[in-house]
Amino acid sequence: RLRESLVTKEKERLEYKRRMIEANRQLKDYEKVGGKTRHAAPAKIRRPRLAGLSASPGFAQGNAHVVGTFLSSVDRHQKSRDPKVESKRFEEALARSLAELATLRVRMEPLMPESDLKIFDGHRMILEDEEFVGRIRDSITNGYTAESALFRVIEELSASMLAVADNYLRERATDFRDVGHRVLRHLRQEEKRAPFAKPTIIVAEELTLSQLTMVNHDRLAGIALQSGGVTSHAAILARAFEIPTVVGVEHLMESVLEGDQLVLDGNAGVVYVNPGTEIERDYVSLQRRYDAFKKELIEEGNAPTATRDGHRVMMFANIALLPDIHLALRYGAEGVGLLRSEFSFLTYEDFPDETQQLALYSKMLEAIGKRPVTIRTLDIGADKYPPYMRVPREDNPFLGWRSIRISLEMAGLFKVQLRAILRAAAKHNVRIMFPMISSLEELRRAKELLAESQAELFKEGLEHNPNIEVGIMVEVPSAVWLAPRLAREVDFFSVGTNDLIQYLLAADRNNPKVAHLYEALHPAVISAIAEVVNVARAADKEVCLCGEMASDPLATLLLVGMGLDELSLSPLFIPVVRKVIREVDYQTARLIARETLQMASVQEIKGYLVERYRDLGLINLVEMYR
Ligand code: PEP
Ligand code: MG
Repeated sequence: RLRESLVTKEKERLEYKRRMIEANRQLKDYEKVGGKTRHAAPAKIRRPRLAGLSASPGFAQGNAHVVGTFLSSVDRHQKSRDPKVESKRFEEALARSLAELATLRVRMEPLMPESDLKIFDGHRMILEDEEFVGRIRDSITNGYTAESALFRVIEELSASMLAVADNYLRERATDFRDVGHRVLRHLRQEEKRAPFAKPTIIVAEELTLSQLTMVNHDRLAGIALQSGGVTSHAAILARAFEIPTVVGVEHLMESVLEGDQLVLDGNAGVVYVNPGTEIERDYVSLQRRYDAFKKELIEEGNAPTATRDGHRVMMFANIALLPDIHLALRYGAEGVGLLRSEFSFLTYEDFPDETQQLALYSKMLEAIGKRPVTIRTLDIGADKYPPYMRVPREDNPFLGWRSIRISLEMAGLFKVQLRAILRAAAKHNVRIMFPMISSLEELRRAKELLAESQAELFKEGLEHNPNIEVGIMVEVPSAVWLAPRLAREVDFFSVGTNDLIQYLLAADRNNPKVAHLYEALHPAVISAIAEVVNVARAADKEVCLCGEMASDPLATLLLVGMGLDELSLSPLFIPVVRKVIREVDYQTARLIARETLQMASVQEIKGYLVERYRDLGLINLVEMYR
């Protein structure tokens, strides 16, 4: 690891130097032409290692297929020979596009929540819109080819939408272009793409839903996207189809050419461009081991997770949207430890009302069955705002108006959510959890609103759970300090290391510049977790850990040894963490935790853990997933 990271650093340093030389050269070229604005076209900068975010795990190797916005390949001035022929072509393509959308909706139904499926309805409505279709027809009558007419109308409409600084309209512009791609494909009689001849990795700025569903998945080995977050539609679908995917890859489009040989590491969120045989060989072996491991895990089945000597650890899943539930069940989650309710909110066009939320939660809970589910109330703000919410610009959004702070201020909206959760909990095994609690006042106010909602439901005679368990995320340092006092007023704690680390170490969780400072295995982080666990146990309250740290197999034994017997993690990592737990005795984990808690530096802790995992024969697993 260390060696690898040193090598990487050295490579990055050399790359930086090379870029500086290149920049200098370009500047010189510019000077040579005497300050005229014409200078050498910037050559593609070839970066060998591109970092992004893991959106769907697994490894892939293959040739790059760069998906452009192929609408832009249309000549907007192309005149037709015969408008009648063009008009017939257009009407046929339109009909085929509509039929395709209908089929697609049915196919996607089990994979996506109702709110997401609406995207297909939205696209259908565009194609049925008289004004939209009428303008294309007019343009064809005026002598343009069907392609040109389509392109012109889409460009005009999306340009006017993009000109408005309104997120909603901007997104609609994307929908128009997406619809345009679909019709264009039918105009060109391009049926679903033939299977790729060789394993292929799709490279794109962004991938719309229709582009992704157009691709033949046979030899689709992976997906790399420059934009897009882990929760973009493409990322969600990729996860549902289990296609290794890395998103948010900076400089991707300028670094990759069609046909380049790529290695994609969906576990670490890295893409290598023409990496050379050494890295390729490493990845071939990693991929082989990963596949074998996955197969072995499936054969092992989903028996409860326990150490060799029978100490039980509950494995829960973190989920955001409906498709995650299928994965959670497939990978043997015993329930949901964190349902991030805000992600569904991001897919609506306005705040969903009580009925919509009740339907949403019920659909998710139905899919999960009898297993316990912890629904976290809205955790919006900072890096995730629904498009319909107007928010002030803040200098420090992570220290600003986010999460429970928004909920408590917008008490009306908050109560709508509380009521919907309470009602959904009437028939299912649900607990409620408040995020980002930093004081007793916040917890008490949230509980007050919960009690009010219960009283209202009671009065209205609506079926609900009057005794729902209430817990909080411990993810702000003040909550660690207050843990003994908070414990008296809740049923459970869930340690949110993603935020806790950033607040304890003052290192933004999303800022690559300080990524090296954002460290789960920091002694301060570990003692904070130990403190929360001890307090919870002393107060006889349940405690879970639901940050990304729970999916790091190198941290597993430490966490279990500290007394955490509930972990909640991304479903795809459940098998590896379960495997680690099954391979050791509880006493070994206890010892590891005890020793680690004495240590003073990250380096010491990591070095020690690597050694222990090596002794236990578990280091291979760690290397594969880390
Ligand atoms: C956390 O902060 O650890 C957590 C689980 O919540 P989120 O990642 O949604 O902020
Ligand atoms: Mg958090």
